[in-house]
Amino acid sequence: MGVQAVKQIHLGDISVDVALKSIKNIHLSVYPPNGRVRVAAPLRMDLETIRVFALSKLGWIKQQQKKLRAQARQAQMEYLERESHYVWGKRYLLKVIEQDAQPCVAIKGARLLLQVRPGSEETKRQSLLSDWYRRQLREEAQVLIEKWAPRIGVELPWLTVRQMKTKWGSCTPATRHILINLELAKKPQECLEYIVVHELVHLLEPSHSNRFIALMTQFMPKWRFYREELNRLPVRHEDWSY
Ligand SMILES: [Zn+2]
Repeated sequence: MGVQAVKQIHLGDISVDVALKSIKNIHLSVYPPNGRVRVAAPLRMDLETIRVFALSKLGWIKQQQKKLRAQARQAQMEYLERESHYVWGKRYLLKVIEQDAQPCVAIKGARLLLQVRPGSEETKRQSLLSDWYRRQLREEAQVLIEKWAPRIGVELPWLTVRQMKTKWGSCTPATRHILINLELAKKPQECLEYIVVHELVHLLEPSHSNRFIALMTQFMPKWRFYREELNRLPVRHEDWSY
C-alpha cells in the first residue's frame, strides 16, 4: 500500500497532514505526544471532502489533544512518596521504602509499596515498577486467553506484552501472535478482557469487517461499552474510520 502524496490542510490553528493512499476508507488519527493530526484518505478523494470530514471531527480532535497533553504531564513520574499510580483502574499512593534488601513491589491497602535499595535512581524505580506491571498483566491476560480461546474456537496464541503509544493491542493471525499494551495493567480489568477478546476474534477474522463486528457481538454483547471506556482514556485502540 504505497503513499502517493502528503498534503496539509488547516482547521483554524490545527494543521492536518493528509496522506493519500490506495485504501477504501478515510481514517483520522491524533498521535502522541504532541497531538499531531493525520488523515489517511483514498487516492481519489479531493481535499475539500477531506476537510469537511476533518471539520466534522474537530470537537473530537481537540478532546484527544487535551488528553494527550494531560498524559504527557502524567508521564513526568518521579517515583516519589505519595505520587498517584493506577493498578487495574484503581488509584494507589506510592510508598517508597528504602531498605538494603531485595527490591520488590506490593499492594497494601491503598498504598503501592516500592521497596528499593537506599539511593536508588529514578530509572531503577521506574523499571522495577514496569516489570511488576508487566508480570501482573501477563498473568491476567494469560488467564483471559485460556478462558476465551476455547469459547471463540481458536488455538492458544503467543502473547507479548509491550509498552505501546498508539495501540491497546494487535494481532498477527498468520503467526497467531497477540500483542497487548502494558498500559492496560493500569485500566479496569474489563478493558483488558475486551482487548483479549477483540484480538482473539481477529484470529477468525483479520479485518474490522461486518463479520468481525457480528462475532464480537456474539461473544461479548457489551463490547461497544468497553471500547467507549477505553476511548475515553488517552491511548486509543482504534482510529476513527468509516
Ligand atoms: Zn482490531
